[in-house]
Amino acid sequence: MNGIDNNPASLDPTFWLKLNAAMEELRTVHGYKLYIVETRRTPLTQLLYFLQGRLSMFAADNKHIVQEYLKLRSTVGLFPVSETDAVNKKVTWTLDSRHFSGTAADIGFIGAVPQGGWDRVAEVVEKHGLKSGHRWPQEDSPHVEM
Ligand SMILES: [Zn+2]
Repeated sequence: MNGIDNNPASLDPTFWLKLNAAMEELRTVHGYKLYIVETRRTPLTQLLYFLQGRLSMFAADNKHIVQEYLKLRSTVGLFPVSETDAVNKKVTWTLDSRHFSGTAADIGFIGAVPQGGWDRVAEVVEKHGLKSGHRWPQEDSPHVEM
C-alpha cells in the first residue's frame, strides 16, 4: 500500500464539502485542472517530512543515516527524494498538522501552474471559508486547511 493517502473519504466531511466546492469553482470558473496530492497523514509520515532538510548533521560522517532515512521513506511508501534534498531541502516546519485529523489537504495543478495560479487558489479557498498555506510566512501553496 502506498503511504500517501489522497482519498477524499479520509477527510473530515465538512472540510471536504468546502474543499470540493472550492476546487469545483476553480475548475468551472477559472479552468484550473487540480488534483488532490495528499489528505490524511500519520504522525510517522509527518516526522519523515520534518526530518527532510534536517539531516545535515549526518551527511558528512554518518552518510549511512541518510541512506537509512531514504530507505524508511520508501518502506512507508512516500515519494522518493534525492540525497541532496533529503539533507538540505526542508518541506515542513511543524510536527503537528491538521492532516492528522483530516482537516487539511494538499492540492496540485495537473501540468504547469498558470500565471498567478496559487494566488487565485488562495482567494477561492478563502471564499469557501478555508485557509491557504500560500499565505503563510513559510509559504506552503498546495496546503489548504479548515
Ligand atoms: Zn499540507
